[in-house]
Amino acid sequence: MNETGLSEEEIRNILNDSKGQDLKYERVLSSMCTYPHKIAVQAHMQFIESNMGDFGLFRGTYNLEKEILSLIGDLLHKADAVGYMTTGGTESNIQAIRSMRNLFLQSSEYQNSANSSKNSDNKCARPNLVVPDSAHFSFDKVSDILDVELRKASLDDELKVSVESVRSLIDENTIGLVAIAGSTEFGQVDPIKELSDIALEKNIFLHVDAAFGGFVLPFMKKSYEFDFKLPGVTSIAIDPHKMGLSTIPSGVLLFRDFHQLESLKADTPYLTVSTQYTLTGTRSGAAVAATYAVMNFLGKEGYRKTVSRCMELTHYLLEKLKDMDVYPLIEPVMNVVALEVPKCDLVRSRLAKEFNWQVSITQNPHGLRLVIMPHVSFEMIDSFVADLKKILDS
Ligand code: PLP
Repeated sequence: MNETGLSEEEIRNILNDSKGQDLKYERVLSSMCTYPHKIAVQAHMQFIESNMGDFGLFRGTYNLEKEILSLIGDLLHKADAVGYMTTGGTESNIQAIRSMRNLFLQSSEYQNSANSSKNSDNKCARPNLVVPDSAHFSFDKVSDILDVELRKASLDDELKVSVESVRSLIDENTIGLVAIAGSTEFGQVDPIKELSDIALEKNIFLHVDAAFGGFVLPFMKKSYEFDFKLPGVTSIAIDPHKMGLSTIPSGVLLFRDFHQLESLKADTPYLTVSTQYTLTGTRSGAAVAATYAVMNFLGKEGYRKTVSRCMELTHYLLEKLKDMDVYPLIEPVMNVVALEVPKCDLVRSRLAKEFNWQVSITQNPHGLRLVIMPHVSFEMIDSFVADLKKILDS
């Protein structure tokens, strides 16, 4: 660090230069984030110093958070669900599984088996979690951080998790199941009703990762069963900073019952509030205000329009690609498209190098992945398809 500071102009120049090196979303077809709504940006700036880690100091922001939880709870068919605003899907997934693990370790069955292993010198079995093979990589972090074995269930032809495979992986040390409502690679929705039935039958938790799909599915014409309406669903992750058009970092984690949240409690003796349930200490109140502002500004009608436009663009893209004999690996459920393209790794790198397009790759099956976010336009699709054609024809 310099002894004396730079001038405002010098700082501005450096920042402008750095900003110039960032890609604009107008060339990005790989991201699940987008430009936040203008009203969210304004609210974010207005609350920039607010720290939800010590919400006794920021009661107004705290009240906004409570309202968001109730709005999202209502959207997900449980207005009295409990939780908090996280930094996004990763933190929500970590905390949901941490709650499952804590409650499993406290259960009398586990305590009895731990006591008998102590007497017999056997090691107590490691808790396990059954996730779809398509689960976001945040669950690998979950496994590492929480020392929970990750059991990956296979997918069916439509890239939904196979219910039989899930069943076959459950044993007495299974703490719970994960279902995905909008998988990262394919935008697919798992058979959550069936998974909810299994969770109830086996008396285990079911976490739904709707980080992406949570702000898509409720606003689609077709209705999907994925939320608290299903009695076996015990927690949901949903991200306002993805299709919710809020600012980063805005995630929401909701639990069906207070005792799940309570299992995350930590004492915070030196703050204005004496307990915390969150993973991080300091938390952005700006993101809370931004989420409140955009959700109330758009209302359900606004999100319906946003989702409907993204789906219109998705179908427009697929129609254009048909003329080039390029087809999706599965019929897109939402605004995520995985395309069957020969040598897709090479095509991806050529799209970036020759035309500055950012797309991504799905692993299994291997395909070219595009996310049709609200920043995408018809012109953008026309131009992308023309560039892809040049590469495929060459
Ligand atoms: N879950 C799903 C389904 C996702 O698609 C993502 C990110 O794309 C995450 C979790 C992680 O979210 P974040 O990057 O906000 O932590």
